[in-house]
Amino acid sequence: MSRILVIGCGGVASVAIQKCCQNEAVFTEMCIASRTKAKCDALKEKLEGKTAVKITTAQVDADHPEEVAALIREYEPKAVLNLALPYQDLAIMEACLECGVHYIDSANYEPEDTDDPKWREIYEKRCREKGFSAYFDYSWQWEYNEKFREKNLTALLGSGFDPGVTSVFTAYAMKHYFDEIHTIDILDCNGGDHGYPFATNFNPEINLREVSANGSYWEDGHWVETEPMEIKRTYNFPQVGQKEMYLLHHEEIESLAEHVPGVKRIRFFMTFGESYLTHMKCLENVGMLSTSPVAYEGKEIVPIQFLKALLPDPATLGPRTKGKTNIGCIYTGVKDGQERTIYIYNVCDHEACYREVGSQAISYTTGVPAMIGTALVALGIWNKRGTVNLEELDPDPFMDMLNQYGLPWVVEENPDTVG
Ligand code: NDP
Repeated sequence: MSRILVIGCGGVASVAIQKCCQNEAVFTEMCIASRTKAKCDALKEKLEGKTAVKITTAQVDADHPEEVAALIREYEPKAVLNLALPYQDLAIMEACLECGVHYIDSANYEPEDTDDPKWREIYEKRCREKGFSAYFDYSWQWEYNEKFREKNLTALLGSGFDPGVTSVFTAYAMKHYFDEIHTIDILDCNGGDHGYPFATNFNPEINLREVSANGSYWEDGHWVETEPMEIKRTYNFPQVGQKEMYLLHHEEIESLAEHVPGVKRIRFFMTFGESYLTHMKCLENVGMLSTSPVAYEGKEIVPIQFLKALLPDPATLGPRTKGKTNIGCIYTGVKDGQERTIYIYNVCDHEACYREVGSQAISYTTGVPAMIGTALVALGIWNKRGTVNLEELDPDPFMDMLNQYGLPWVVEENPDTVG
C-alpha cells in the first residue's frame, strides 16, 4: 500500500526497517538510503527472501536538502522516515516540504557545530528566555508547523521510545485515566550489561552530549535547571530491580509541557552505572567530549567524533547484551474528583531482541515505534497536519500496535513514586 524512504542505516534504522518488513500489509516498497550505501546493501541482502517488501538502496548525504529532494523526486515515496542523526532533521524536513511528502523522525533537531556563531546567537537568546541550556529544543522544528500545514502534510516529531512511546503513554493516560494530570516522571532504565567497561547504547556523540549536559525539569510553568547529574534517586524497577537514576533534560519535557493542560511538574530520569559515570567524567575532564575541532598533526579532528571511532559501535552490542530495559511514566493527577497515580511501562529483553532482529533493546525500543508512527501516518489514521508531537494524537491505535509488534505495556495502579 505504501512506498517509503528510510534515511539512515544505523542501529535504530536497522530495527525499524525489519519491523516494516513484518508489516507487509502497510509497507510494500522501501528505499533504504544513507551516507554509506554499503550498510544499506548489507541489510537489503540480509532481508532478501524473508519479506515481500520490495527493497532498493541509495546513497544520500542528508546534510544537503537538494540531494534528499532529488532522491524523493526519483523514488516518489509517500513518507520519509528520518533515522539519520538529529543534525539532518531540518535538511530532510525542507526536502519533504519541497516534494510534498510526509516526514517522521525519532529525535529533536540539534546542530552538529555548536560553535557556529549564527546558531549560537539564537541559542543564547533561547537559553535566556526559556531557562534551559540543552543544545536542542523544538523551536527549530515547530517553526515549520504552518509550512507543513499549508501543504497538507504531517511532520511527526519524535517517534521513538523517549520521546515517542512516552508521549503516547501520556496521551493514553489523559484519555483513559485522568481528568487532569499533575505530575509526570519519565523513567528510563537500562538494566542491560554488555560486558564492556564503557560503551554507549546508541550513537555515542548524541548519547554523551545528552548525558554530560545540565539537567532540567519543568515545574509550575517554568524550567528549573540543575548541574549535570545533580539529582539522583533510587527506584525499584519491575522485572529489573533497584537502580540509581539521574535527572536529565529530555526533549519530550518541552513538548509535554506545551500539550498537557494543567501539568505542574515533568521530570526525566535515566539509570546509569558507576563505571559509565566514572568513564564519562574522565573523558569530559580531558576534553574528549568536545565538539570543537582541534588541530592534530596537520589535521583537524573533532574529539567526540574521534572518541566515537574508538568506542564499540552500538550496533555490535547486541550479541553481548544481557538483561532488560524498563521505560515508562508515572503519572499523578485527578479522576472524577479522586487523586490517582498510575505507572505505564514496557519491559524489553535485550537477548530476545537480538534473537528477533539482531539488535539490543535500545535500538529495538526506538525502531519499533518509528515503524508504528510511519505506518499510522502512511495509512492516514494519524492525519493531523503540521508539525505534530505524538501526545497530540489518538494513542489507541499506537498502543495496540505496540502490543502487536513486540513492545507490550503494563498499566500499574498505585505504584511506588519517585520522591
Ligand atoms: P547510528 O549512528 O547507529 O546511525 C545513524 C545513521 O545515520 C548511520 O547509518 C549514518 O550513516 C547515517 N547518517 C549520518 N549522517 C548522515 C548524513 N549526513 N546523510 C545520510 N545519512 C547519515 O544512530 P542510531 O541508529 O543509534 O540513532 C538514529 C537516530 O535515533 C538518532 O537521531 C538518535 O538520536 C535517535 N534515537 C532516538 C531515541 C528515542 O527513543 N527517541 C533513542 C535512541 C536513538 P553512516 O553509516 O555513514 O555513519
